[in-house]
Amino acid sequence: MNLSFIGLGIMGKPMAGRLLEAGNDLYVYDKNALSSIKELESKGAIPCKNPKDAAEKAKVVFIMVPDTPDVEEVLFGDDGVEKGIKPGSVVVDMSTISPVATRNFAERLRLKGVEMLDAPVSGGEIGAKNGTLSIMVGGKEEVFQHIRPYLEILGKSIIHIGKNGDGQVCKMANQVVVALTMLGVAEALVLAEKAGADPAKVREALLGGFAQSKILEVHGERMLKGMFIPGFRTVLHRKDIKIALNTAQELCVSIPGTALVHEIFNALIAHGGADLDHSSIIKVIEALAKKENF
Ligand code: NAD
Repeated sequence: MNLSFIGLGIMGKPMAGRLLEAGNDLYVYDKNALSSIKELESKGAIPCKNPKDAAEKAKVVFIMVPDTPDVEEVLFGDDGVEKGIKPGSVVVDMSTISPVATRNFAERLRLKGVEMLDAPVSGGEIGAKNGTLSIMVGGKEEVFQHIRPYLEILGKSIIHIGKNGDGQVCKMANQVVVALTMLGVAEALVLAEKAGADPAKVREALLGGFAQSKILEVHGERMLKGMFIPGFRTVLHRKDIKIALNTAQELCVSIPGTALVHEIFNALIAHGGADLDHSSIIKVIEALAKKENF
């Protein structure tokens, strides 16, 4: 099958690589990532001039770019997907973006006879490389079933949540849990160390009890070792938190913990942490505890 993949960053490059290795003809585009394009080309992918070109070549177009305006540009910009895509094709947006905008994009594409799935993911770069992502899908059931074999190349847990936008609603919930857990882990490790215990031992003990979590395991280790090369950039997690806060405001749902993490991410970004892994949130807690400066 001819597939296109647009957005070849930390997540998109390994995901595109898996679709290629599975034997699909793959057309790729990224507006910056030249080294990723070259690497995929050396494995057999075909570079495209722009999203329109990528859409003309394929029946299924995958997108994995940072934010809502980026997806809008890819779909509806001057040389956007909309200009090249044929009726009967499917757009699968795997970026994490606004559920409201997603529903709007799906409607606009439907006018062209094109169906869209929102299929954001959780599981990070490791999950993208290993094909073990959790994929949360919104869109029509029959479109989901049609695309499912490709999603199975990328993920292990693939759940059809409901209509267009519902995948993004699910991802929004995921990011709230991740953000609050990350803050909890950072606070616990800083507190334990200030109170005189070895935080590495504390983490090890906590992993055996009720406080166990993937965040404590993966990001707790990053925090202890100061390994803040992303991973998941802080600025992208703040973007996800903002989506949750905007949605909560529209619905008059109070999510105070999430608002707090947003403010802490602001502080981290103000001190140069935008492109560090989001586990660097611990630097803010350390600074507040006067353990370390930023
Ligand atoms: P990234 O910044 O590493 O990569 C994004 C890529 O998109 C870049 O190569 C950029 O050049 C490209 N791009 C941006 N605008 C474009 C455009 N208009 N046309 C073509 N290419 C464009 O980001 P990432 O970490 O790969 O994340 C991508 C999406 O996946 C985001 O929505 C993020 O929230 C989500 N996500 C990331 C992770 C993670 O751990 N990194 C995990 C789950 C979900």
